Amino acid sequence: MKKLLAAFSAAILAFTLASCGTQKQSVSVEAMDTFMKIEYYGDESVGEKLTGEIKRLDSLFSVTDKNSEVYALNRDKEVKPSDDLSALLKRSLTLCDRLDGALDVTILPVVEKWGFLNGKYRVPDKQEIQSALKAVNYKNIEVDNDKVKLKNNAKLDLGAVAKGYAADKCLEILSDNNVETSLLNLGGTIAVHGRKPDGTPWRVGIADPDNPSDYIGFVSCSDKVVATSGGYERYFEKDGRRYIHIIDTQTGFPSDNGIASVTVISDSGTLSDALSTALFVKGLDGAREYHRDNPDFDYVILTADKKLYISEGIVNDFTLSESDRYEVVKN
Ligand code: AMP
Ligand code: MG
Repeated sequence: MKKLLAAFSAAILAFTLASCGTQKQSVSVEAMDTFMKIEYYGDESVGEKLTGEIKRLDSLFSVTDKNSEVYALNRDKEVKPSDDLSALLKRSLTLCDRLDGALDVTILPVVEKWGFLNGKYRVPDKQEIQSALKAVNYKNIEVDNDKVKLKNNAKLDLGAVAKGYAADKCLEILSDNNVETSLLNLGGTIAVHGRKPDGTPWRVGIADPDNPSDYIGFVSCSDKVVATSGGYERYFEKDGRRYIHIIDTQTGFPSDNGIASVTVISDSGTLSDALSTALFVKGLDGAREYHRDNPDFDYVILTADKKLYISEGIVNDFTLSESDRYEVVKN
């Protein structure tokens, strides 16, 4: 519920302006474990296409839906992939590699051990984690156009990238239907398309990790996908410790490196979503180093010690809402 509320409030920003010739439309859908809301100016029928597309992708990528393609792959270890599974896997595997495995779409056995799949949270012992980690290696996925194979007990989890891919597919539909202005809030992954009807760019809120229904600041942008990964989105607490749903692929433990949230802003939903999860795992130094070598995105990183690190490309597009809460560090 917490996650739903946070996601819902994360970017329902002013879409209250006068219409620009076409009708303002709003549709919502619950999918991919979150609440999604899309607002756009255009024909009513486009909304159904968008929600239909999101549901279709959810029914391919879900790890828990017994009828999904990913479920069948995890069970049978081999499927003839849909075009979407094939495309998302190819893109994801390139990113897993580029990110040195900080993103690993075979993390599922470890996610299961911690109870994040069924909500029966628990702290597994080290041996359990070690044995689950043995099955984690994205190189155990083989993809070609008519076959996807999982080797060595690997299991697929597209949770880190699916919402971003869904954002990309929705943006294609909006563009094919001549929609020029839209705001997609796919629960932590927000796509802003075109400009607001008054010609100004969108302002996307960055949630306060300590109080996710508040914003610590806003990024002004157009035609970008803004994805945030935060420990606050899903976690449990045991003996005074917090265990979050983002897993450090090196240790099999929930990431615990002083990062509170990572927001990535880029032209691609899949990229933003993949990077927000992976850079969370990499930690501050790893994330900054990665950005130096791959500057095709911008970031806002919030740390537990209340510092806000922002990449140079968006410094001028960022506004802090409460200037004394975070110390801003520009890169
Ligand atoms: P996100 O909300 O995009 O940061 O994705 C988090 C989800 O991705 C988790 O709920 C897991 O299903 C999965 N996940 C967790 N850690 C990793 C990781 N290191 N690499 C890939 N997927 C992960
Ligand atoms: Mg992600």
